[in-house]
Amino acid sequence: MSGAIRKIVIAGGGTAGWMTAAAIGKVLGANLDITLIESDQIGTVGVGEATIPTLLTYNRLLGIDEAKFMSAVGGTFKLGIAFENWTDVDHRYIHSFGITGKDHWTAGFQQFWRKGRELGVAKEFGDYCLELVAAEKRRFAHLPKLGLNYAYHLDSSAYAQFLRKMAEDNGVVRREGKIGEVRKNEAGDISSLILDDGTVIEGDFFVDCTGFRALLIGEALGVGYEDWTHWLPCDRAIAVQTKSVGPPLPYTRSIAHSAGWRWQIPLQHRTGNGIVFSSQYMDEEEGRAFLLSQIEGEVLAEPRVIPFRTGTRSAHWERNCVAIGLSSGFIEPLESTSIHLIQRSVMRMLQMFPQGSVANADIDEFNKQTFFELEHIRDFIILHYHLTKREDTPFWRYCRGMDIPDTLRHRMQLFRETGRTFRANDELFAENSWTQVMLGQGIMPKSHHPVADVMSEGEVRNFLSHIDENVRRTVETLPSHEDYLKSYCPSS
Ligand code: FAD
Repeated sequence: MSGAIRKIVIAGGGTAGWMTAAAIGKVLGANLDITLIESDQIGTVGVGEATIPTLLTYNRLLGIDEAKFMSAVGGTFKLGIAFENWTDVDHRYIHSFGITGKDHWTAGFQQFWRKGRELGVAKEFGDYCLELVAAEKRRFAHLPKLGLNYAYHLDSSAYAQFLRKMAEDNGVVRREGKIGEVRKNEAGDISSLILDDGTVIEGDFFVDCTGFRALLIGEALGVGYEDWTHWLPCDRAIAVQTKSVGPPLPYTRSIAHSAGWRWQIPLQHRTGNGIVFSSQYMDEEEGRAFLLSQIEGEVLAEPRVIPFRTGTRSAHWERNCVAIGLSSGFIEPLESTSIHLIQRSVMRMLQMFPQGSVANADIDEFNKQTFFELEHIRDFIILHYHLTKREDTPFWRYCRGMDIPDTLRHRMQLFRETGRTFRANDELFAENSWTQVMLGQGIMPKSHHPVADVMSEGEVRNFLSHIDENVRRTVETLPSHEDYLKSYCPSS
């Protein structure tokens, strides 16, 4: 399309739609005419309650006051995810948001820890991580200087409402109604959206936030979908909320079962529960019965079944349309990465916002960066499934034996041989995340870096115990997560 962009239309008002609207409104709202269309009749997917630390950046960019936000979304603090029964039945580890131990520029902390293990002087890897130990002790506080690295558990509908207010304050106009038709011009670009009542909403640039329907990017522009189900076989979720039965944990629980896993996400007043499973290995009735047998507390609403297909759109920006949120693809929620991907796409779109007409070079760059990001997250999630000792059910035997992407095979091999991990360019998960999950899932590197041998046995012992003591001493000073929440956002 040609000509400067003046009118932006955001189709969809779930988490993706309102995160997009709030950010565009804040940054470019003064010069653009922004409309968001959402349908009360269709509603939103209504899940997506666990986040990762990058959301703090998004909220800060928008100038959001954290305590007000936490009160509005019934939020709790999250220090990581506990993976139960993944490596094996009755095995548990935490992937925390913290940094474990202390790296040397030549070698990650795991190299020194492994040497310590060999000498019999090292505790569990996680004992050297402040966030992980705080999570286990259920403690939390904002610490001065280099504080705890954390994220949030939040009520996603309340978060969307919170962002809606910000967006509307910045001039975004909300239209309620069902989009019945997407019109294109002769060149093939989207020109307008027609609501069921006949209202025509014209635009120069469109953001598809219509969720799994992908009304604009998929249906109207015909952009295909790359299916990753052969690597990530789960394709159904059932979600149900319950009243809280105890103080909220400062971490998400991910508990593997015979054909997938289930989540437990603590908010201030309720708990989000759900089961993720592969319909090839478990039917819906079985899934529902299993979920209901596992949850605690009064059930607040009927369990909802959510079918999904793991994969990605073949392009995330096509012509004058960018897809953000579930319309752009979905990697299952094991590491709570979807809201992060929304945030990344919103920020990327703003960084590459058309300077005049839409440039093909921008489209190519946007798609290249998005794919890079997605493929690394995909590999990280596959790792949890593939690297298991479980052989107790057909589902786990499939995951253990399945073919995996070469990129992931290489990472696993490198770690197994040498204990090394590297963060590729700007990928989301840094070395420490890969290390925590590879160790947690049962790879013990065959050797350690020679720099660890430069230390004597006494030096290794002192080095490790110094970190351990620091972690324990700091955690002792922290209040309980529950008490901290009560003082920080008094509504809790
Ligand atoms: P939706 O919420 O589906 O919103 C779509 C919007 O489009 C709605 O407003 C709808 O009304 C509108 N719409 C659709 N069609 C039309 C039409 N014809 N006319 C008008 N409006 C229309 N993410 C995380 O980060 N952490 C998690 O813990 C997490 N857990 C998840 C668990 C499950 C089981 C699933 C499936 C997803 C999870 N996600 C999670 C992902 C997260 O839920 C989504 O990324 C997030 O909610 C964004 O969804 P969305 O806005 O793209 O789509």
